[in-house]
Amino acid sequence: MRQLLIAGNWKMNHTASETETFCRNFRALGLEDHKVEILLCPPFTSIPAMVSVLDGTPVHVGGQDMCYVESGAFTGAISAAMLADAGCSHVLLGHSERRQFFHEDDANVNLKAKKAIEKGLTPVVCIGETREQREKGVTEKVVRTQLLGALEDLSTEDILKLVIAYEPVWAIGTGLTATPEQAQEVHRYIRDVLAERTDDETAESLRILYGGSAKPSNAEELLSEKDIDGLLIGGASLKVDDFYQMIVTGDKLNS
Ligand code: PEP
Repeated sequence: MRQLLIAGNWKMNHTASETETFCRNFRALGLEDHKVEILLCPPFTSIPAMVSVLDGTPVHVGGQDMCYVESGAFTGAISAAMLADAGCSHVLLGHSERRQFFHEDDANVNLKAKKAIEKGLTPVVCIGETREQREKGVTEKVVRTQLLGALEDLSTEDILKLVIAYEPVWAIGTGLTATPEQAQEVHRYIRDVLAERTDDETAESLRILYGGSAKPSNAEELLSEKDIDGLLIGGASLKVDDFYQMIVTGDKLNS
């Protein structure tokens, strides 16, 4: 059975001091003995505060992006080694906001995934269609292209180190959630593409998260779907109680 992963993407929210308060309150709720795996991806400047306050808990900390280059003249960028050194174990790659506002493409995500793996980080590769693409009926084509582009030249051994996040762009931060059936249909398709690209065993063992207005009220129905192995949560991960509630929901389903 695939262990559920409940992940939070804070985007550009929470200063370091706000992060410290969040993490103290989060820790006070009890972070040991959960059945799900937990990941939080704060802004870069909040990583040290999060790592320090959550030290000794099983919560993973991740970056929201990284540069595909080792080091050097890339003003404003953060390297994989810097994230790892700061205490991160994961990194989000190819989030739709990175694609939309920072013009990242599949080739870029692929280079980042290779560098992240080389440096021992777990990439969480985000893919998903826009509203127009869904309406045009090209959802499968879009996720297939994004997925295969991100995985280009990766060995099966390396692919096994990834987490995939299916995030329909029209559902991110909009309050519109894909129905569990809509999400399951695409998750199953992604797993089929993974099987084609690798083998059945690899595809069955990889985790595919759903992201897009996930919240306490819809977490259970989404997580109950066969091929949904966790959630990537934006807005609802900013509130300690909401995020914790989704962890507890995951625990119930992962037992
Ligand atoms: C996200 O940022 O990955 C996301 C899914 O955001 P939200 O939950 O706010 O839609």
